[in-house]
Amino acid sequence: MEINLKRGYLDKNKKPFVIAGPCAGETEEQVMETTIALAKTAKVDMLRAGIWKPRTRPGTFEGIGAEGLKWMVQAREETGLPITVEVANTNHIEHALKHDIDVLWIGAKTTVNPFSMQEIADALKGTDAKVLVKNPINPSLALWLGAIERLENVGVNVLGVIHRGFSDFGNKKYRNNPTWQIPIELMLKRPDLAIINDPSHICGNRHLLGSVAQKAMDLNFDGIMIEVHRDPDNAWSDAMQQITPSAFDELIGGLVIRNEKGIGQNAPEELEENRRKIDSIDEELINILGKRMDIVRKIGEYKKVNNTSVFQKSRWKEIVDQRIKLGESLDLSSGFIQRILKAIHDESINIQEGILNKK
Ligand code: PEP
Ligand code: MN
Repeated sequence: MEINLKRGYLDKNKKPFVIAGPCAGETEEQVMETTIALAKTAKVDMLRAGIWKPRTRPGTFEGIGAEGLKWMVQAREETGLPITVEVANTNHIEHALKHDIDVLWIGAKTTVNPFSMQEIADALKGTDAKVLVKNPINPSLALWLGAIERLENVGVNVLGVIHRGFSDFGNKKYRNNPTWQIPIELMLKRPDLAIINDPSHICGNRHLLGSVAQKAMDLNFDGIMIEVHRDPDNAWSDAMQQITPSAFDELIGGLVIRNEKGIGQNAPEELEENRRKIDSIDEELINILGKRMDIVRKIGEYKKVNNTSVFQKSRWKEIVDQRIKLGESLDLSSGFIQRILKAIHDESINIQEGILNKK
């Protein structure tokens, strides 16, 4: 089956590439009922279900096993849609290849482990498998890229990546923090790979799914992977975050799709004009930062001669308070001003430390 999924899919098709289906395949009826209802919405491009489930704690449902692959094959036959399942070891791969599963996905708890990734790469060598790689559970771009490279090194066709958020500790808004800078950085480093957002595992609940999926669209992601169950409240895994096929239909239908170039009549010229303005303002900003650091160096020389400490708490507090007030009058949030000042201050300290400790 031809899978039409490339980076830039969204720009060309004006709709995200959508992967949907239950967190886990539980019974034949549950898989068939859910996937047929999904196909009827006409908003899904590929069906998913976990057959082997890597669960955080033992004693929970760990997947139905190879038997469930037959149900997915049946779902493909009934709907005409390609299918994807998660694989985490050689044994899973043998079963998945035997059932000619269209796309394999690598889960977050596998991407994180280079031994597992190498085992998977070795098992896929010489096959024509297509793979999607989820981000590792910890916020490491290097591990994510490393997992992709291990597959590519043995000639595997890595179609794309799935952003499902990163583990954190304590009470928080999301089950897995989206930390959007990491997928953005990945897009910049690997513009050839499609990037799909998984709002289900980021949110861990239903009410935030729409806003996360919309943010992914605003950042020009190529697709969405979302967990859908015929009876979410009674799902055997991830019950809190799964939605019904009709809620799925509404969610995908409600997304506003913005492509990279925009569609307004005068948008390109106006956009170009504003981009030129931004370019010159950025140039000005960097020139000004250069001037500020020249003065920081002069103060550093003074501190060296007079044996003055680099950091003076009262002076720093005065600077922050005064700049936050100024920022507020210009509609700049205090958090933003604080982050910028911290970056400038860190650099100033480094520069002065260099001067004070110069032999
Ligand atoms: C899943 O997609 O069901 C899954 C196990 O996700 P993750 O690897 O992102 O935890
Ligand atoms: Mn899940």
